[in-house]
Order: sequence, then C-alpha cells, then structure tokens
Amino acid sequence: MSETPREDFRAAAHTAADLVADYLGAVADRPVWQPVDEAARERLLGAPLPAAGRPLEELLAAVGEQVMPYPMGNGHPRFFGWVNSAPAPAGVLATLAASAMNPSSAGGDHADVHLERAVVRWIAELVGFPHGPGAGILTSGTSMATVLCLAAARGRAARRAGWDVREDGLAAMPPLVAYATGEAHSCVRKAVELLGLGSRNLRTVPAGPDGRMDVAALRRAVAADRAAGLVPFLVAASAGTVNTGAVDPLDAVADLCAEEELWLHVDGAYGAFGVLDPEIAHRYAGMERADSLALDPHKWLGVPVDCGCALVRDASELRGTFSLVPPYLRDEEAGGLGWFSEYGMEQTRPFRSLKVWATIAHRGRDGIAADVARCTALARRLGELVEKDPELELAAPVETSIVAFRHRVPGLPEEDADAVNRALPLAVQRRGRAFVTGTVLGGREALRACLLNAATTEEDLEVLLDEVRAATAELAAGLRRG
Ligand SMILES: *Cc1c(COP(=O)(O)O)cnc(C)c1O
Repeated sequence: MSETPREDFRAAAHTAADLVADYLGAVADRPVWQPVDEAARERLLGAPLPAAGRPLEELLAAVGEQVMPYPMGNGHPRFFGWVNSAPAPAGVLATLAASAMNPSSAGGDHADVHLERAVVRWIAELVGFPHGPGAGILTSGTSMATVLCLAAARGRAARRAGWDVREDGLAAMPPLVAYATGEAHSCVRKAVELLGLGSRNLRTVPAGPDGRMDVAALRRAVAADRAAGLVPFLVAASAGTVNTGAVDPLDAVADLCAEEELWLHVDGAYGAFGVLDPEIAHRYAGMERADSLALDPHKWLGVPVDCGCALVRDASELRGTFSLVPPYLRDEEAGGLGWFSEYGMEQTRPFRSLKVWATIAHRGRDGIAADVARCTALARRLGELVEKDPELELAAPVETSIVAFRHRVPGLPEEDADAVNRALPLAVQRRGRAFVTGTVLGGREALRACLLNAATTEEDLEVLLDEVRAATAELAAGLRRG
C-alpha cells in the first residue's frame, strides 16, 4: 500500500485553496448555470472504480476540470432558484478544519460538542427564541429537524393521553391529529407518515389568498375532530413558506394552541431569520411561543450544506423522546446535558457547528441582520419592478424575500399563457444569465425568485426580468407558430 507523505498534503492544500478561491472569485463572471455537456456527464457517470490510486495534485486537477465547471449555480448573484444560498466564505474554510479534526459530535468532552451547544444558543438568540440548556440540536436540515420535533410532540401527546408511545407504539391509541395549510412544506407530511401518525390524520387547514393560515377554520377543524373522539395534538405553522414566503399568523395560532393544549411547531427553515429585519419582524410575532422551531442555517445564513437546527421549548421533551440512557446513568458532565445522540436520531454526528460558528462570527449579528434586510428590500424592489410592467403580475404579496410572479403573455389565451409560464423557468435557466424556478399557485403556473444573496444588486433584478421577457417572447413565438 502506498503512503501519502505529509509534504504532499501541504502542497496540495495550497493548490486546493487556490482552486477554491479562483472558483468563488469568478462565480459572478460565469454563466449562472449551464447544462453538463454530454462528454462531461458521461465521464462523471461512467467513472470506473480505480484499481490504483493517484496523487492528490492530480485529483485536484480533475476536480478543477471535470467537476467545478458544472455547478448548480447557487453562489451567483443572479441565482434565484428554490432556497439554495451562496456559501459563506468563512463557512467554506471551516469545513476544511472540521473535517481535519473529524470528530463524532455525539458527545463527550471535546471542542466540537461544546461549540454546538454555543451555536445552537446563538441561533436561538438570532431569531429570538427562548433557549434553555440542551433545548436544541443541529441536524442535516429542516426535514430531519421536523422529524425530531414532531416525535417529541407525539410523545407528549401520547403521555398526556395515558400512553407511552416509545414502549407501546401507536396501535392501541386513538388517532392523533395534526394541522397545517396546503402551503406547508412536504417535510411535515413526510414526518407525519414516518412517525406512524398517518397522513389522513394531517388536516389541510385552508389558507387565505395571501397563503396564510385561516385560524378560524383551524379552530373549527380542531373542534370537529374532538367531537369525533380524535385527539388533536399538533399545529405545524410556517414562518416563511417555500412558495411565497408567507408567514402564518403565529400569535393567533399560538393562542389557539395554548387554549387547546396543542403542540405548536413552526417551520422556519427558510424564513425564520427574516425576523432580523425590523421592517418585517412584526410578521413573526408569536414565533417565540412555539413548542418547537425548525430552521436551516444552510439557507438564509449561507452556512455550507448541510445544517439544519431543531429548537424546543422544553429540552426534556426531546431528550425524553430519544435517550436510551436511563436517568440514573446519565452523564452529569457538561451541566448534565448528556450526549447529543440522546436528543436525536444520529449517533455518529458531523462537526457542523464549526461552519455555523465561522459564518455567524465572521458577519456578526449586525452583519447578518443587514444581509437579511438587504434581501427583503431587494425582494420588495423586485415586486415593484414586476408591478410596474403591465405584462407582468405578482402571484402573491411579497412578505419576506420570495417573489412569486407571472408573465401575462398578452395575445395568448389563458391556457397557452399558463403553458408559457410553466416552460419559463427552464427557458430562462438555459439562457445562462439568471436562474429562476417555478411553482403552481391557486392552480396557475408562476415563477418564483428567492433572494438570499446579499451580493445581488438592483441591476441583477433588471437582468432577471429582461431574461424573463426575452424567454417569454421566444416561447410565445414558438406557440404562435404552433
Ligand atoms: C427547505 C425547506 C424545508 C426542508 O428543509 P431541508 O433542509 O431541505 O431538509 C422545509 N420547510 C421549508 C419552508 C423549507 O424552505
């Protein structure tokens, strides 16, 4: 077996640093996205398992030539797709150090474990969520954070109804019922299904035209379920939906949850950090009253993927859901909080906290708040530009930093206009100057632009709309030709 000498690593690390710096430095000058060309795709897909190893420098050259020219496009100031942010440079650097240390952040007395406690507290402080020791954990993303939070909610509801769900399972229990709007992210339904609650017990609460939960309808649904002998237990509200960035009326939902003794879970994956912008902070009133809040530092904060976070009001609900350490054996070091592996699904856990620490420490609270405010201001500006153009229309009010809009495609019947809007995202993407994705709102096709990158300028917004107009013209001409 061949050994890699240490000098080799240092030289390669310098090469790697240059490669990464060159990449990040040139992001804005390249196409936002380009299809992977046929030969390059074949080379990636069909790469044979190598029998012999290759030197690090050669591998870096291959990465530079075969991988880095074909990014998803996030990082570019005109990437407005989904909820995928540009990586924070401090976070990129931290990734290297974290993997060099390579701990399992399951528990014990090493830096990563203590740092995770600290950054979870920072995240809670950033979004104004009350935080007690142990009341949170980093996860792969909000999908996993949602599983943890809903599992805790399920455990509490079962206990109150006289069951121990960990020991007995759910089979003998009356159905537990959860509530969310149709705008809730699919991860809520996934968690409900995975936890054995059954998606038929996830009620779709109507939302108003602004996409926000109708609390009166929620109240009626809870009453009807109680009357039918079912056990309402959870409301999953949104602090920023993926489609339009709508924030549910959290205070009113929290009031109802308090009256009805329901667990309030808030999905703040994308939107929770919006509370840092004084202009829109009022929309989040009540978020701090949730029993659990799931959010994604790998979205608005720009922490390199992956990093989600589950915050809970009561740490013992989370630990009581996952710990297999009997209370009399619990490790009393570090304030008696025990191991992270007692608070979630993962045993061997990556050192996620270093990139969170670096990302937040580099910008500071004030820098992060300024970045967030810049994104929401850009979104409002884009909304104005859309409204100024008689051929464009907003598909939803701009609440946070997502702008959903349509091209009216004058001169084409509604059905064809819809077809054009459906085809628009890919047509815009292929042109390479801006990247936008699509969605369906109220049964109609729409584009949605998500602003997460503080490096985006107003000029970039103009380019986006010019690209949408140009792509619309191409598509409409195609349709007219039949
Ligand atoms: C991204 C997102 C999720 C899913 O989070 P992952 O980190 O992708 O697992 C859930 N809810 C909302 C609102 C999101 O934006």
